[in-house]
Amino acid sequence: MKIAMIGTGYVGLVSGVCFSDFGHEVICVDKDPRKIEMLERGEVPIYEPGLDELMEKNVAAGRLSFTGDLAKAVDGADAVFIAVGTPTRRGDGHADLTYVMAAAEEIAGALTGYAVIVTKSTVPVGTNERVKQAVENANPGANFDVASNPEFLREGAAIDDFMRPDRVVVGVQSERAKAVMGGIYRPLFLRDFPVVYTDLESAEMIKYAANAFLATKITFINEIAQLCERTGADIKAVSKGMGLDGRIGNKFLHAGPGYGGSCFPKDTSALARIGQDHAVPMQITETVIKVNDEIKRRMIGKLQDLSDGSFNGKTVAILGVTFKPNTDDMRDAPSLTIVPALIGGGAKVKVADPQGRREGEALLPGVQWVSDAYKAAQNADLVVLLTEWNEFRALDLKRVAKKMATPRMADLRNIYSAADAREAGFEAYCCVGRSGYM
Ligand code: NAD
Repeated sequence: MKIAMIGTGYVGLVSGVCFSDFGHEVICVDKDPRKIEMLERGEVPIYEPGLDELMEKNVAAGRLSFTGDLAKAVDGADAVFIAVGTPTRRGDGHADLTYVMAAAEEIAGALTGYAVIVTKSTVPVGTNERVKQAVENANPGANFDVASNPEFLREGAAIDDFMRPDRVVVGVQSERAKAVMGGIYRPLFLRDFPVVYTDLESAEMIKYAANAFLATKITFINEIAQLCERTGADIKAVSKGMGLDGRIGNKFLHAGPGYGGSCFPKDTSALARIGQDHAVPMQITETVIKVNDEIKRRMIGKLQDLSDGSFNGKTVAILGVTFKPNTDDMRDAPSLTIVPALIGGGAKVKVADPQGRREGEALLPGVQWVSDAYKAAQNADLVVLLTEWNEFRALDLKRVAKKMATPRMADLRNIYSAADAREAGFEAYCCVGRSGYM
């Protein structure tokens, strides 16, 4: 199969590299010349574990290449994947389809024979029909089908998720498109990974429903965590006791500072708008969005309590600013709410993050970047564990405490416990949904 992949972001690049590893011939396209130059030099523009080696292997095998020339990539392709961004549209919370529709029109003008135009981007119900119309309008003679193939990979574990998915979802309107999609995913089908074929609208809906459900699960446990703090229950024990129920499952039951990242905030917001447009308000999702915002704000209150009510003149060490470990992605990360609140309150902020600096420098002006947790803790009044990178999971807490001016810790990922902190010499410790001490 010959595949064109439009967009070389977290989804497009991983998908393109993995498809080439399946044995397909893949050309990845991006309109950002900086990204294409890096890729052509063999450099990966994002941080995703294992991606560099897999990319190198497939480039060397001659199956994977990069270009800024969309027409060259689309020429002769069996399938053209659209994997461009669908961020929140400014002002109204809808998914911004500008990039998807622009890509569709460009593809229309470049088609040379039959191809399936596959939307991998997360898009509202009805978008694939819009893509079809746009291509027909731009190129009335074009010979094509559309397909919806939403992506479920998680950043930080993207290659494994792509190669060993829980399922692949494919929405199609014709047997011909189904056969092309079947050929592309054949290596997964042969290894018994389920491929769910459905119509376009259901495929589009599955993605939003799945993400909203996961956001709900996280928010539910975060809300229960608040109640645990008031009642003396321990959220870790509660999550474990709940998660062992096979109907509930133990994933996404870890209490923390509220969800962020490149998908949940924008996808919950878009689903709420889709519901409003169809006069079927998504009341649960709307509440989840509201509660998650409150949870993020509550975290600032916790830090304030540990800072005797004011950040003014305090030095705060932040461990981790990316929205989760093993990625450099900062989109909608909780740090983007918490760090400005600290700085706004007059704190000096030091940040350690294994991969966050490249993206974070522009997003978090005024912070001091340091290379590790111990440098961050030097003379600090408060250390905040915000992203649970492995290197922050096994800190020498005594060493951290000794370096601090006032040894206090906010462990917003529940990595340690009040007993660990006390033993290490911390004078105050708080976490989420479990007892701390002041
Ligand atoms: P991204 O912003 O990292 O990448 C998008 C890329 O597309 C950019 O490099 C941009 O330059 C390029 N682009 C935009 N228009 C183009 C055009 N006309 N021609 C060529 N290149 C173009 O986005 P992402 O995180 O990879 O997300 C892409 C889509 O996948 C979104 O809809 C997102 O919701 C969805 N998704 C993302 C994830 C994730 O974990 N990031 C997971 C599942 C689904």
